[in-house]
Amino acid sequence: MDISIIVPLYNEAESLPKLYEWIARVMKENKFSYEVIFVNDGSNDNSWEVITSLQAHNTDKNASVRGICFRRNYGKSAALYCGFKAAQGDVVITMDADLQDSPDEIPELYRMITEDGFDLVSGWKQKRYDNALTKNLPSKLFNATARKVTGIQLHDMNCGLKAYRKDVVKNIEVFSEMHRYIPYLAKNAGFTKIGEKVVQHRKREFGTSKFGINRFVNGYLDLMTLWFLNKFGKQPMHFFGLVGSLMFFIGFIAVLVVGGMKLYALSHGVQAMLVGVNPYFHIAILMMILGCMLFLAGFLAELVIRNSPSRNDYLIKEEI
Ligand code: UDP
Ligand code: MG
Repeated sequence: MDISIIVPLYNEAESLPKLYEWIARVMKENKFSYEVIFVNDGSNDNSWEVITSLQAHNTDKNASVRGICFRRNYGKSAALYCGFKAAQGDVVITMDADLQDSPDEIPELYRMITEDGFDLVSGWKQKRYDNALTKNLPSKLFNATARKVTGIQLHDMNCGLKAYRKDVVKNIEVFSEMHRYIPYLAKNAGFTKIGEKVVQHRKREFGTSKFGINRFVNGYLDLMTLWFLNKFGKQPMHFFGLVGSLMFFIGFIAVLVVGGMKLYALSHGVQAMLVGVNPYFHIAILMMILGCMLFLAGFLAELVIRNSPSRNDYLIKEEI
């Protein structure tokens, strides 16, 4: 099978028939064999009925319509995760269900993966049809940060329209709300040939956006998590141990200085502050305690990782 198209959806019943028809038309024109996997993320409209009827009415032998129906709403990442697991095509395309992404882009995305050798190609909605103030502007800031942190030069990291080599989706794990950073997950897994294609963007025809403004807060926090996981996830002691030891050391030296000065004052009969009321003494003690705690946190994290089932999961590219 050439292509798997994964469509995560939450309450998009009105858009589905038109989306499917459009996909089918493009695929037919280009003679692809394909499957469309609709992942119904706990919709409470009749999206699932629409999907079952699309499947029932499919007569094209080069196409299969598949559906996965969650019992409740888990989020876009969960939907993509299950879609990736189910996909069988050589190239996997993800697209939003709301008709904002155009199926006309699929043939070129397919070509970039199969002929230009990209592992992943991300869409870039250069001209966007969303609210300028609540979406386009924060999105620009967000992408600038993401470029800095991840080192991947994409303009639109979170674009719903993306194409992947099958290998990529089978070897990354999208979790929590990490669908915003799939290129970063891919890069961390060793798939470094990441490309970009300017894609057409359209206005939402039906329904409303499923993500509020809190996407940006969560987005930034998730970016920090990923960065930290990638940098120290396998060796937390390298961070906590170092910072903890440094703090302890500084605190220890400071206590010696405070004590030494007091002893010096005592032995020379000079009037000096009580050690117990000296603010430096308290700061020094605090540094030592915090240092110990950080060190311990790192050590506990190391013990946890030692028991992680994935501690020795390596992606092997080839073996001869
Ligand atoms: N979506 C989903 N589960 C959710 C929220 C969204 O599957 O919990 C789907 C949604 O139906 C759409 C895609 O994710 O197909 C992108 O969502 P949306 O269009 O609301 O995002 P925006 O275009 O506003 O970024
Ligand atoms: Mg949308």
